[in-house]
Amino acid sequence: MKNLNKNGKFGEFGGMFVPKDLEQTLTELAEVYARLAVDDDFLNELRDAYRKIANRPSPLYFAQNMTNDLNGPQIYLKREDLNHTGAHKINNVIGQGLIAKRMGKKKLIAETGAGQHGVATATIAAYLNRDCDIYMGARDIDAQKPNVYRMKILGANVIPVTQGQGTLKDAVDVALENFIKDHKSTHYLLGSVVGPHPYPTMVRDFQKIVGEEIREQLNTIGIQKPRAIIACVGGGSNAIGAMYDFINDEDVELIAVEPAGKGKNSGKHGLSLGTGKSSVIHGFRTLTLLDEKGEIRESYSAASGLDYPGVGPELSMLKENGRLKLGEVTDQEAVKAFVYLSNMEGIIPALESAHAIAYILKNHGQFSKDDVIVINLSGRGDKDVENVYENYM
Ligand SMILES: *Cc1c(COP(=O)(O)O)cnc(C)c1O
Repeated sequence: MKNLNKNGKFGEFGGMFVPKDLEQTLTELAEVYARLAVDDDFLNELRDAYRKIANRPSPLYFAQNMTNDLNGPQIYLKREDLNHTGAHKINNVIGQGLIAKRMGKKKLIAETGAGQHGVATATIAAYLNRDCDIYMGARDIDAQKPNVYRMKILGANVIPVTQGQGTLKDAVDVALENFIKDHKSTHYLLGSVVGPHPYPTMVRDFQKIVGEEIREQLNTIGIQKPRAIIACVGGGSNAIGAMYDFINDEDVELIAVEPAGKGKNSGKHGLSLGTGKSSVIHGFRTLTLLDEKGEIRESYSAASGLDYPGVGPELSMLKENGRLKLGEVTDQEAVKAFVYLSNMEGIIPALESAHAIAYILKNHGQFSKDDVIVINLSGRGDKDVENVYENYM
């Protein structure tokens, strides 16, 4: 496999900064993964599971009404919202679930923010007949009730995390602690391209199917390449998944849209790529939100899935070497785009994905009418309808 990155470094970013006993477990995982990544038997099993469980390939949808309304560019939506469990998360979960099975791990543990990754993990745990513990910030549990119910119905234990701010960062902290305690029988199924090696590489490889399908689906309708690919960024897995196949196509713009929350100047945002500094968080080096003392600062977004003070190391590298273009979208702009896409196309997007839609509502003028752009619609918005309706309409 090309670009299989042995020490997990992406330029100065990435790596493995963890206690000794966790280092051993992760090194074993990295070795197992390095073997499986080039094992045809495993790759066939993975492709099969994408079809059978996730409902892949996801459609590439031409947004005719939106394209007309904005008078171009030609807007295509990659419909990850139509995957089983409602988001791109299932792609990664299937891959890691199959690895855990091969390693004989009895239990899957995971962190979750909006609950999408927790639901996907609980789904695969049921399918593979594994125990499942999901760590979720207490604040997120209150905000995402339907997903909490789904996880419990699927047979998972949902464990509230009350330390810190009770959000995603704290859930990762506690999940990592429990992984260290229990690493012999447990696989920690990390939900994005973050964390220590091998997660950023492994999760990217399980998500790159998205970009590979985009290329193939465009080719089928006579389009060689898009002018741009646009995706929202929390940890960065749906973005790198959609973009990875196009990194060497220099004429394809890669646009990463981060949550500006209540506004860049309010300090309440999640602009890790846009404003972050290089630091170590959760066992890896990346661009991170820091306070004056150089300590990790709380992030914020109305979209829980984007509320993370770091970002995948590969995206940090692509930003630093100028390959990535950045976008910023506030809560208000995202909510507007959420309602816009629902009205315009009959598609209710996740509030996370609505950030990518909002980018094009604000910036469609930078493209010409005939340019083809692809927006990765990372998930569906059922989980957000109550929040948006009660608080913003
Ligand atoms: C989790 C999530 C995200 C953010 O995670 P990434 O790793 O940045 O993709 C975005 N959209 C949806 C629908 C999600 O569930």
